[in-house]
Amino acid sequence: MNFNETDSQKSVSNAISKLMESFDDSYWLKCDLESTFPQEFYSKIASGGWLGVCMPKEYGGAGLGIAEASVMMRQIAESGGGMAAASAIHINIFGPHPIVVFGNSEQKNSWLPPLIAGVEKCCFGITEPSAGLDTGNIKTFAKKRGDKYLINGQKIWTSTAQVADKIMLLARTLPNEKCRKRTDGLSLFYTALNQKYIKVQEIRKMGRAAVDSNEIFIENLEISEKDRIGDEHNGFQYLIDSLNPERILIAAEAIGLGKDALKRAVRYAKERIVFDRAIGQNQSIQHPLARNWIELEAAELMVAKAAYQYDNGMPSGAMANAAKYFAAEAGFRAATDAVSTLGGMGYAKEFHVERLLRESLIPKLAPVSAQMILNYISEKVLGLPKSY
Ligand SMILES: Cc1cc2nc3c(=O)[nH]c(=O)nc-3n(C[C@H](O)[C@H](O)[C@H](O)COP(=O)(O)OP(=O)(O)OC[C@H]3O[C@@H](n4cnc5c(N)ncnc54)[C@H](O)[C@@H]3O)c2cc1C
Repeated sequence: MNFNETDSQKSVSNAISKLMESFDDSYWLKCDLESTFPQEFYSKIASGGWLGVCMPKEYGGAGLGIAEASVMMRQIAESGGGMAAASAIHINIFGPHPIVVFGNSEQKNSWLPPLIAGVEKCCFGITEPSAGLDTGNIKTFAKKRGDKYLINGQKIWTSTAQVADKIMLLARTLPNEKCRKRTDGLSLFYTALNQKYIKVQEIRKMGRAAVDSNEIFIENLEISEKDRIGDEHNGFQYLIDSLNPERILIAAEAIGLGKDALKRAVRYAKERIVFDRAIGQNQSIQHPLARNWIELEAAELMVAKAAYQYDNGMPSGAMANAAKYFAAEAGFRAATDAVSTLGGMGYAKEFHVERLLRESLIPKLAPVSAQMILNYISEKVLGLPKSY
């Protein structure tokens, strides 16, 4: 067993920390305060070829694994950009996965290069207001008409839809009552986000204002059947293939954010003098920070193990879910303890930890909640009866 980062992981880590030096705290604070997409950051990541970090080389990608992509996302989140930086590119890193695995060569040739080059952005339209985590219950329907589909429905929380050119869309193509399982009869599409037929309405939210999340309303959107990935009615299975890498990446992002919060807290604890001594001399300040370090290190090992399993074609569901759960908790606790360490200043925007705390809730909630991960581990790992 070897716990060292590989040469390629080290070189990703070094290159990304160098790249992120161009974006300081004031850049991320401005994006947050003004709710502006970090386009300069996005462009720099794209021009460095990083959007294709784990895409195949033949389409312009770097052909690296989820292990390297998770190092990259951790480093990006750790740079001060938190979830705003990570989410600006997150979907482009794992989202095209179903195209790579299940798309035909025409689809791969026309869809992947512009995504990898950063010429096109894509968003992910899965969640619906009336279905929530019960994806099999989605109502958006794609009705077949010759070689076209007519799509009607609604999605919620579609991140980056304000800036995206394309959407990966899950829609029902067979009514629920005709399916053996609720997750049957769904198809996966990748198509233009045509705002003539898709109304995009931003959701005002608690944090990560730089990266929009939206309700989208799809009315009579006609698309070609060439925009369907793989076989009709089999879309949920294709999507499942990209769920584990997404969980691993979001875990890495939570760790990066947590490490940044911890660094800020430690610095402040050393510098802030109260009662004639540094506040960091008090164990009530030290111990939570020491615990944060332990938890973040443990989470990093879990991410590395999950990424190793995924990249080597081993079953990775349990570890990807566990890493996502544990890293989200560790990141959230580090951000919470950073705010406590800074006292009143923890609540001030100029010290950045309040922004990190608001953003640290995202990995706990999305793309799957902590409770659903515990359901998964209970059932699939411990063999307990399904509870829902
Ligand atoms: C910032 C942000 C960005 C997002 N971006 C996207 C995106 O780009 N594309 C997209 O498709 N979606 C996106 N999402 C949606 C996200 O994936 C969902 O919010 C998440 O899957 C939870 O669904 P829900 O909010 O409908 O919760 P619900 O399904 O309504 O659940 C509410 C609560 O009940 C709990 N619960 C429900 N059923 C059970 C059960 N059986 N056992 C135990 N607990 C249960 C859940 O764990 C949760 O705590 C985003 C969400 C956020 C907050």
